[in-house]
Amino acid sequence: MAVSSSSPLSRTLRIGIVGFGPFGQFLATTMMKQGHTLTATSRSDHSQLCARLGISFFRGMNEFIEAENDVIMLCTSILSLTEVLKSLPLHCLKRPTLFADVLSVKEGPREVLLQVLPEESDVLCTHPMFGPESGRDGWNGLAFMYERVRIRDEATCSSFLHIFESEGCRMLEMSCEEHDKLAARSQFLTHTIGRILSEMEIESTPIDTKGFQTLIQLKDSTIRDSFDLYSGLFVHNKFAKQELNNLALAFEKVKQKLEEMNEKSDLSMQPL
Ligand code: NAP
Repeated sequence: MAVSSSSPLSRTLRIGIVGFGPFGQFLATTMMKQGHTLTATSRSDHSQLCARLGISFFRGMNEFIEAENDVIMLCTSILSLTEVLKSLPLHCLKRPTLFADVLSVKEGPREVLLQVLPEESDVLCTHPMFGPESGRDGWNGLAFMYERVRIRDEATCSSFLHIFESEGCRMLEMSCEEHDKLAARSQFLTHTIGRILSEMEIESTPIDTKGFQTLIQLKDSTIRDSFDLYSGLFVHNKFAKQELNNLALAFEKVKQKLEEMNEKSDLSMQPL
């Protein structure tokens, strides 16, 4: 793992966003603020919101691809990546383009991008480790993971990374595999505990401890993300299956210890 310390001479970019959902919109706001020119396309019609933000929205994929972007940023759901990518008329690309994805799992998308994209397209796999909630007050100090999978146009890649660097992100270069291993033990686990607490319908009480308030916050923040996002963390990260098993085993162990204590205490309470 390497922490980037470069400060490239960055330039403003023409960035085309594929998938204008909550996360695409969130990233777009900062990119617009930095002066980049944005276009977008998505399954649903986001043209009114885009018009308000000063972003050109294309319903047709052909027009979008022909807009000659420097970077095409893939912000679609994990589950729909292959379908979305295959629906892009890539033969209409007018020049070599950098494709950068921001999906929360990395090995699968890396493989799909290398399979589907033309050889002359550069590929950068990234995962901003924050979202509309945690990055609401700025990105300073928040982690940004990336792997330079196939980069020939260094200037465009550096300018794209600079978007995050200049906001103060902690830039972490690592392989997609390493990311998935770490994310299964951190992000997937966090979301799973949050979803379990949501199933339990936990609510604030008049006697909340600080610890319990943290659990309520965790539940509230995880269920704000779509179930597509959460299930994608499991379905497309091979390390997540093991972590789910580890969680179930750990739960059983803790439960067993409590039941053993219960049995001992039942015995000790028996009348002489
Ligand atoms: P999401 O539910 O993961 O993805 C929503 C986006 O996917 C929307 O743009 C939606 O298009 C599109 N989409 C969903 N199903 C589709 C289908 N069958 N065909 C075509 N498009 C489809 O929510 P998100 O929070 O916006 O996340 C977007 C991506 O960013 C995900 O890959 C996620 O892992 C990643 N990410 C999210 C966060 C976060 O905090 N939210 C942080 C880091 C990375 P329409 O809007 O047009 O319906």
